[in-house]
Amino acid sequence: MSAAAPLRRLARPRTIACIGRNYADHIAELGNTRPREPFYFLKPATSMLHPSSGAVLAPRGAKLHYEVELAAIMGRDVDEAPDTDEAVAKYVKGWAVAIDMTARQFQNDAKKRALPWTLCKGFKTFLPVSHFIPASKIRDPHDVRLFLRVNGETRQDDSTALMLFRIPRLLQHVTSVAPLEEDDLLLTGTPKGVGEVRAGDVIEAGIVVDGVELEEGRIEVVVEQRATGYNCEAREA
Ligand code: MG
Repeated sequence: MSAAAPLRRLARPRTIACIGRNYADHIAELGNTRPREPFYFLKPATSMLHPSSGAVLAPRGAKLHYEVELAAIMGRDVDEAPDTDEAVAKYVKGWAVAIDMTARQFQNDAKKRALPWTLCKGFKTFLPVSHFIPASKIRDPHDVRLFLRVNGETRQDDSTALMLFRIPRLLQHVTSVAPLEEDDLLLTGTPKGVGEVRAGDVIEAGIVVDGVELEEGRIEVVVEQRATGYNCEAREA
C-alpha cells in the first residue's frame, strides 16, 4: 500500500452558496415543489465546523435536521461560468462532504411568512465539513454515493446521479448572479432521508467512489446542546 497523503483542512471561503431542492425524493419528503431553475441561499463562513473541531451545537429549542451534500470547492475566481463539464473541470479544484444543518421549524416558518433562511441555516457549527478531496479522486461527481448515519443507523444513502440540475448548471446559475472566488464552496443539494438529531447523537457522513469510501470525505461529529445564544423557544412563545 502506498502512504496516504496528509489530510488537508478546507481553506476559509468568502461565499458558501447552497443549492436547495435538487433531488426529487427530497423535494417530495418535505412537500416542496420542484424548481424550474436552481435556487440557492448563503451560509456564513463562520458556520463551518472542521473535522475534530468540536460538536454541532443545537440551538435551544431548535428542531435540528441534517442534510448531507457534495460541496464543490473553487480553484480560482469564476464569473459567469458556462453550463459545461469543461467549466467544472476548469474551476473546481476539489470536493468535500458537507452537512447543511437546518433548524427545520424556522425554515417552515420562513417559507410561510416569506422570510429569508439566514436564521434556519446560519447558526455557528451548522456546516460540518470533511477534509479536502482533490479533484483527481472523483472521476465523475455525478456518480458517487453520499451517505449519512445517525448513531450507526443509515439515514441517507444515494447517488449524486439523482441530482435534478447537474453541477455545471448549478455553477452557471450561481455565477450568473455573482462571482465565486478561490476556495468558495458550492453545496449541491441533499438527497432524501433528512431528519432530526438531538444532543448526544453521533452523525457520520461520507462519500463512496467506485465502491470505496474516501478517507478525506469522512465526517464524524457529535451533537451537543448549546447553552447560550439565540433561544428558539423564546421566539415561538
Ligand atoms: Mg441543503
